[in-house]
Parts: sequence; structure tokens; C-alpha cells
Amino acid sequence: MSKQPAPTVAIVGGGFAGVAVARHLERRLPGHWQILLLSRENYITYNPLLAEVVGASILPGHVVAPIRQMVRRTRFHMVNVARVDLEQRRLILAEPDAEPISWDRLVLACGVRADLTRVPGMAEHAVPLKLLGDALALRNRILVQLERAARHPDPEVRRRLTRFVVVGGGFSGVEVAGELQDFLAEAVRYYPEVNADHCRVALIHSRDRLLNEISEGLGRYAGKRMRRNGIEIHLGARVARVDEEGVELTGGGRVEGATVVATIGTAPVGLMDRVPLPKEKGRIVTAPDLSVADHPDIWAVGDCALVMNQHDGRPSPPTAQFAIRQAALVADNLARREAGRETRPFGYRSRGQLASIGHNKAVAEVYGLRLSGFPAWLLWRGFYLLQIPTLLRKVRVYFEWNWQMLFPPDIVHLRFTRSGDNRWIFEADGKPPPKHRQT
Ligand SMILES: Cc1cc2nc3c(=O)[nH]c(=O)nc-3n(C[C@H](O)[C@H](O)[C@H](O)COP(=O)(O)OP(=O)(O)OC[C@H]3O[C@@H](n4cnc5c(N)ncnc54)[C@H](O)[C@@H]3O)c2cc1C
Repeated sequence: MSKQPAPTVAIVGGGFAGVAVARHLERRLPGHWQILLLSRENYITYNPLLAEVVGASILPGHVVAPIRQMVRRTRFHMVNVARVDLEQRRLILAEPDAEPISWDRLVLACGVRADLTRVPGMAEHAVPLKLLGDALALRNRILVQLERAARHPDPEVRRRLTRFVVVGGGFSGVEVAGELQDFLAEAVRYYPEVNADHCRVALIHSRDRLLNEISEGLGRYAGKRMRRNGIEIHLGARVARVDEEGVELTGGGRVEGATVVATIGTAPVGLMDRVPLPKEKGRIVTAPDLSVADHPDIWAVGDCALVMNQHDGRPSPPTAQFAIRQAALVADNLARREAGRETRPFGYRSRGQLASIGHNKAVAEVYGLRLSGFPAWLLWRGFYLLQIPTLLRKVRVYFEWNWQMLFPPDIVHLRFTRSGDNRWIFEADGKPPPKHRQT
């Protein structure tokens, strides 16, 4: 008698949601099930600390953790899934000769991508902050601009090169602006040709206060404190256009800066556009139990899914906190359905929010408790330290944070080029080299 192939749950996406689904399924599903996790990178990125990579507070390798070391039973493959074949239950990979992968149950956890197309000029001139590569490119760019400023003959250009504009006053925008300002203040000491007073960070936000996800008092505190630290804050301002020299605001006015960081705008990843499932604004609409309507064997979770929260009747926000909670429920519901038991709806009360604002200060709202300043910053560090995946990373980041308080900042420009590659050094900030400089 031929042996039946093991039933397979395939999870697409190895971010917060996908990895958490795999880990929970390992405990929930009977041993004969195969769990397959597929993702474009072989690591999970701990996004909440990407701003710290920009500001050289931690090494890039410390915000990522290898997925193969985070799972036990799960089989992992680093692949790019190009298409989902719903009829034949197969995943078609982007590699031309790769065999399709069969699935019996499918979990879509592929997150979202940065979208710079909403504002004219943003795609050409701004740097997003979504991936580890973005954080590295941005960090290199800061150092390139300081180098350029150190030897440019025109004082106006020098000033512009040392001005940085961050678009978006949500969590990522506030954190990266604070980190940037701190890093510039330290790094400029090693650039005697650069006027430290000219190094400026401007933060542009469309609402009347920063951090709208947090209570009004804390949002206003963050703005006041960041201004005191030298950050220029433009509230109620919208960016109409981005160019090489800064941004133009709607209704007139300009904010100068040769580097623009975009922390606004996301769009579905390409795979989501191609999958014929019910969607709203590019996110897969799920039933209350996180399965996809009319597709009981398909589940969606994390940023790529539109999940109503039974706790407050509102769509879940695109945060890691919600992605991880949803992942636990998907695994539980999937196992329940296979065992013929009733599934449960998603309902979650947020534990709170924390944001660092630079200068060893933060704002925190946890379990209804509101904190600001240095105590909130300590809480912020402690909380994120506990959340970083793998014990090894926790230990490394702990020592690095303490180390970094005692020693000068790391101002190494990490050149990505390889031997025999003649590209100009300044390309490493992610921009093509000017024609006359190509070698
Ligand atoms: C700078 C920044 C700071 C943040 N700070 C916080 C914070 O402080 N607190 C918080 O709660 N949230 C924060 N977030 C949000 C949080 O990171 C996201 O909500 C979370 O990552 C969502 O998890 P996810 O698994 O749905 O998606 P992701 O973590 O984005 O993972 C998706 C994965 O799917 C993979 N993938 C996509 N398409 C394919 C394909 N076709 N084939 C194979 N693999 C694919 C991707 O490569 C990726 O690995 C932050 C986000 C950013 C960008």
C-alpha cells in the first residue's frame, strides 16, 4: 500500500507574523503534518530597531535573526513566491526552473512594501525606511553627505548637505528623526570642516501633533522635547513634491535638505496584487477567525491582512504587536479546524505603545500607564530588549547599548562594492553615480 504524502501547511513570509505562525503550529499540529515556511530573506528583521541602525546605536546584524535557528520542526526555504495557484494548490516560485510547491493549507503573511509613489519626486529623491537595506543605505548616505559637506566650496550647498528631512511624524518618523539628530551631534566632531550648527533634522507631519496613535499629552511632549533637542518640527504640513534640495509643502513653503527620509506610505507586495482573493486597499479581507472568506484552507495574517479586531470593532493596526497576536490565533484556529473544533474570532486589547524620541528620552503608554522622558526610555530599551528574537541577539544588543554609551559613535561608511567593481564610492548610498564620475 503506498504511503500518503504528509499534509502540508505552507506559510509565505518570514516576518513577525509568519515566523510566529510556524512556531505556534509546531506545538499545535500533530506530528504527521509538514510545516513549510518560505521567505525572501533567511532572517527575520526586528523593524522597531531599524532607526537604531541608522543612528549607529546598534550593528545591522543585531536587528536580524536567522529563521532556521528560530524554528525546530518547520522546514524553511529562502525563495521568492511569484504566484499562488489556488486551483491546483501550488506555489509558483520566481526562480525559472524551480519546482512548484504543493500545499494543503496556506497561510499568507507577506507584509507590505514601502510605497514612494504618492508624492511626486519621492521615489527619485527620498530614502524609505522599511528594510534593513534601507537603514544601511540611509546610514551610509548621512556619512556621504558629511564627507561632501566637508569639502564643498559653496557654503549654501554645505549647509543643505547637512540638513535632513524626515517625512511622517508617526513612530518610525519620530524615532529616526531622534536617532539622526543624536548621531549627527556626535559624528560631526570628526568632521572639523563642517559647521555643527548647520547640521539639522526637520520632521514634517500632516497632523497637529506627533504620534497620533498615542495620547495627546505624550504626543505634544514628544514634539516639545524634540524641538528642545534641536529638531525642527513642521506640524499640519503636507509634502507636495520632493526634489534634490528638499521638499515643497502644499500651500507653499519649502524645507531644505539634501536627504529626505520617507516614513509614510505602504503598498501590497507584488504577490498580493496577483493573488485572486478578496481585498480592500490591497490587504486580504479575513473572516473574524482569520481565514479568508470562501477559502477555509487559506489564512491571512499580519500587515498583508485586513483583520477586524473584535475588541474595538476596528481594523487591526499594522504593527508587530498585532501581527504576533494574530499569528498565535491563526495557528490555534488552523489546528482547531483540523480537529473538527470551532474556531475563535480575533480580539486583542493593545498592551500599549512606546517610542524613543532621541537624547535618551522616550514616551510610553503601557497598560494605561503614561511615562515620558528618561524613565520611559529605560522602559523602551528594556521592553525591546526582551522582545528581540533569540537570546544571542538580546545579549549582543544589551552589551552594544552599554558599550555605545561609553565610546564614540561608529562612523564607518560600509562600502558594499566588491573587488574589481569600479563603481564610485558614493553609489553605496543607493543612488546611481553621476555620469561624469563613472569609471
Ligand atoms: C521602521 C519600522 C519601525 C517599526 N516599529 C514598530 C514598533 O515599534 N512596534 C510595532 O509593533 N511595529 C512596528 N513596526 C511595524 C512592524 O514591523 C510590522 O507591523 C510587522 O513587521 C508586520 O509583520 P508581518 O509579518 O506581517 O510583515 P513583515 O515583518 O514585513 O514580513 C513579511 C515577510 O514576507 C516576505 N515576503 C514578502 N513577499 C514575499 C514573497 N513573494 N515570497 C516570499 N517571501 C515574501 C518578506 O520578505 C518579509 O520577510 C515598524 C515597522 C517599520 C518599517
